[in-house]
Parts: sequence; structure tokens; C-alpha cells
Amino acid sequence: MKCSTVKRDGTNCGGIPLASGLCWAHDPAVRDRADAARRKGGENKANARRAAKHIPADMKALASQLMEAITECYAGDLEPRRLTAMGTAAGAIVRIHETAELEGRLEELERRAEVGQQRRTW
Ligand SMILES: [Zn+2]
Repeated sequence: MKCSTVKRDGTNCGGIPLASGLCWAHDPAVRDRADAARRKGGENKANARRAAKHIPADMKALASQLMEAITECYAGDLEPRRLTAMGTAAGAIVRIHETAELEGRLEELERRAEVGQQRRTW
């Protein structure tokens, strides 16, 4: 027996089925359980909460979009080359963020160094 889901390209998934007859990537119950577990895990773990505070909101959206795309690609609903393109674009966005953050921190350091210099000349 195989997963009977018809993918977007019209072919059958053929993944190894669970009791529902669908594979883990296509069984909505699995997705619901995974979502619930992720939510619970995210809420309960102080480390995850602390880490999440440092992730800008648009980066969080990007990450969850990528996670979704990975699952879709695994299930055969998204072409691998699209996932690759998304990964490349996401990498570029992350680098822009990193550069902007470093620029901001550098400016702050330069500002503080300038203030220190002025004090010393008094
Ligand atoms: Zn499937």
C-alpha cells in the first residue's frame, strides 16, 4: 500500500502510508500534531523564547515559510529547484540583515568612542 495523495504534478505520492493511508507529509493529523508540538515546545522552552526574541519578525516569517516549503518539497508538492531558489534568496536576505545589524553596532561603538575622546580632552 502507498500514500494515495495526488500531487500537484498529477502523479501519486507513493510515500509509505500511516494508519490513515497517507504518508506523514500528507496526513493532516500528523501536521496538526506537529504544529501543536511546535507551539507547545516554543512556549515552554525559555531558551527558545530568548532566542526567538533576537530573531526579527520578518525573519521568523521567512523561517516558517522555508520550513513549509521543505515539507512541501519532501511531499512532492514543490519542485526541488524552487526550494533551492528560495534557499538562495533567503540566504541573501539573511546576509543583508547581518550587515545592517553589524553596521548599527559599529555606529554605536564609534559614537561611544567619540564621546570618550571628547571627555579625555577636557
Ligand atoms: Zn504522501
